[in-house]
Amino acid sequence: MRILSPFLMPTYPAPPVTFVRGEGTVLWDDQGRCYLDFLSGLGVTSLGHSHPAVAEALAAQAGTLLHVSNLYGTTIAPEVAATLDHLICAHYPDGAPTPSSSPRRGPQPRPAPSAPHGRVFFCNSGAEANECAFKLARKWGGPGRHVVVSAYGSFHGRTLAALHATGQPEKHEAFQPLPEGFRHVAWCDTSALEAALTPEVAAVLLEPILGEGGVRPGTTEFLLAARRLCDERGILLVLDEVQTGLARTGRWFGFQHFGIEPDVVTMAKSLGNGVPIGACWARAEVADAFVPGDHATTFGGQPLAVSAARAVLRVMQEEDAPARAAAAGARLGKALAALPGVAEVRGLGLLLAVELMPDQGSRDAAARALEAGLVVNPVTSTALRLAPPLLVSDEEIDEAVDILSRVLEP
Ligand SMILES: *Cc1c(COP(=O)(O)O)cnc(C)c1O
Repeated sequence: MRILSPFLMPTYPAPPVTFVRGEGTVLWDDQGRCYLDFLSGLGVTSLGHSHPAVAEALAAQAGTLLHVSNLYGTTIAPEVAATLDHLICAHYPDGAPTPSSSPRRGPQPRPAPSAPHGRVFFCNSGAEANECAFKLARKWGGPGRHVVVSAYGSFHGRTLAALHATGQPEKHEAFQPLPEGFRHVAWCDTSALEAALTPEVAAVLLEPILGEGGVRPGTTEFLLAARRLCDERGILLVLDEVQTGLARTGRWFGFQHFGIEPDVVTMAKSLGNGVPIGACWARAEVADAFVPGDHATTFGGQPLAVSAARAVLRVMQEEDAPARAAAAGARLGKALAALPGVAEVRGLGLLLAVELMPDQGSRDAAARALEAGLVVNPVTSTALRLAPPLLVSDEEIDEAVDILSRVLEP
């Protein structure tokens, strides 16, 4: 058994293997063994390990300019922000958020065609993207209107405020008191949501699919109701797309499956294919609640990180990553559902969970899969999460299913 380095804080259990190299869907450990990576570093390396376009972009940028601070202009962040704005809004009927999705009642001015629909703040992680959304919601809501309502079973990050937004009370215990202004409702319970929307509420924060909560997609009915309730009461609908965003679910963003239009979208995991970067997008009218000095970051949007994001988004667009994820996800989901030992397959695109038969523990199953050369994650005590790279091949899918079928054999 390996042990965690005594030089590291004991926040993680001892690692079962140590990886030293990766290429595409394949990882190598320090003993020279290779593995199929069907976790992608928790949905991060969506283009696979060591993608040449990302590696080249990083190498070129490292030799050009790494960092100058946000006191000065750089060229890449605005370009990446414009691409994100396009991908978030491209599906809107006329390319712009409709007046009915506006949290402020009354007719809305349409932006000029060349104007952005929304604006982006770059940061370094998913939790930070959510922190930006919380501060924006408070600034937009004004005095007395600061509460964020999220779902039980959700995950929004580990900073104190993101931890409080995370609907897992057992994770809160040791760190009380947490920042005030967060409350939770049962997942997909529309009447509970409605009851929670008192006048102090500034925002509703939802994952389109609970990721860490077991890969549980929201119902269309609930997400449409959330949008309607937010519209009626002038509340922001913030979607945490940190795990679901950027093609993973078979659409550019998870919300695009449900016919809703958010006011704020947070993202991170796959945006840099492994380079730390997060982003918070908000409709222009909402974003403009911030004025200079309200929010800042030393590293966010620095040239190295956004050069990775620019390469990622270019490759995703060239490869039509949403379509790739949808097709590969259909193949993988169908094969998994046919395995003995699998009770249910759920999720969208290439964010899937297999619920195991009652006699199988997921920790055990994940450990046996790792020994057999397949990296998957026990997302709950009874379910495995599969989130392979979006460019995974049919052969790799078949091989992974073959390994799982042996691992789960009764
Ligand atoms: C992973 C995750 C986060 C936190 O991201 P970090 O980069 O670890 O801070 C937030 N929300 C969701 C939905 C996530 O899956």
